[in-house]
Amino acid sequence: MFCYAVTENSKPLVRIELPTPEPTGSQVLVRVTHCGVCHSDLHLWEGGYDLGGGKRLSLKDRGVSLPIVMGHEILGVVARLGPDAKGAGLKEGTPYAVFPWLGCGSCPECLAEEDNMCRVKPNALGVYNPGGYGEYVLVPHPRHLVDISGLDPAVAATYSCSGITVWSAIAKVMPMAPDDPIVLVGAGGLGLNAVAVLRARGHRAIIVVDIAEGKRKAATEAGASAVVDGAGDPSEVARRITEAAGGPVGAVIDLVNGSATARAGFEALRKGGKLILVGLFGGELALPLPLVPTRALTVRGSYVGNPKELRDLVRLAKEGRVAPLPVRTRPLADINAVLDDLLGGRVVGRVVVEHPGG
Ligand SMILES: [Zn+2]
Ligand SMILES: [Zn+2]
Repeated sequence: MFCYAVTENSKPLVRIELPTPEPTGSQVLVRVTHCGVCHSDLHLWEGGYDLGGGKRLSLKDRGVSLPIVMGHEILGVVARLGPDAKGAGLKEGTPYAVFPWLGCGSCPECLAEEDNMCRVKPNALGVYNPGGYGEYVLVPHPRHLVDISGLDPAVAATYSCSGITVWSAIAKVMPMAPDDPIVLVGAGGLGLNAVAVLRARGHRAIIVVDIAEGKRKAATEAGASAVVDGAGDPSEVARRITEAAGGPVGAVIDLVNGSATARAGFEALRKGGKLILVGLFGGELALPLPLVPTRALTVRGSYVGNPKELRDLVRLAKEGRVAPLPVRTRPLADINAVLDDLLGGRVVGRVVVEHPGG
């Protein structure tokens, strides 16, 4: 099978050939038709994350070795079934979203369908195993596939990462009254999907923070009730947030998660407020420790989502309640130009690459 692979960090992806896997046991071989290009691909491409204080998390040290076939917002059709996957009711020609955040498959978390929280071994597609910038992906079990018939495939592709990531982060701040402001930091693919999901769940007060005017405009068009310029000193940004909200806020979901955005989010919280850290921009946050107990604050991480959340999101989308985020499709062969655009901050919403013969 052909793949566009990272063969050297930060260098253009190279088209290579890899053996097409043969499904065994409960495995399903999926022929990829679409794949969303996620911001986290940039970190994989560069080979690590900034941990702040001059420290870096190297993906090589975490067992991610080159070449990597990236791409984890995968849609496709069933190509071949392993012998134990045959009775699962998967249909030929049906478009499926692939749940990519795989684990070991046998620990308590994986068995509870919380594969993303696997305590043994991460096995994500597009990170540890070949992903959607290749012709085929191998899925361990039919439960990792969700039928998306009737949905726009380019939009549905984004549900496997940005969709469930925001779904899961929002679940961690709910319940909140519909007019109690929820702040979203970052109006990229994640932020716009978060606006759509909050609106679908009936939430009305949604404040979006971004440094780029074009992205703030996109957030307003997606249904944000207010937008805030995220540029400048974090305390000043926090002041702008509380001004827009009419006071300190109960929830900030930081989809950027850099030193400055996390600081601004933390300072904007009211008593009992929650700061949910989602993005992987990098940096560090120094907490004034006495404030955490005396104001009963929560600072919590949220990492992607699980197959149950993907099914819930797809169900809501099929009911027509999740507004589609702006998506642009481009041919897979343009993947290097797409990554450059993403790196340069020139992408509004999401780019989804289409495979030849999709
Ligand atoms: Zn992603
Ligand atoms: Zn596991």
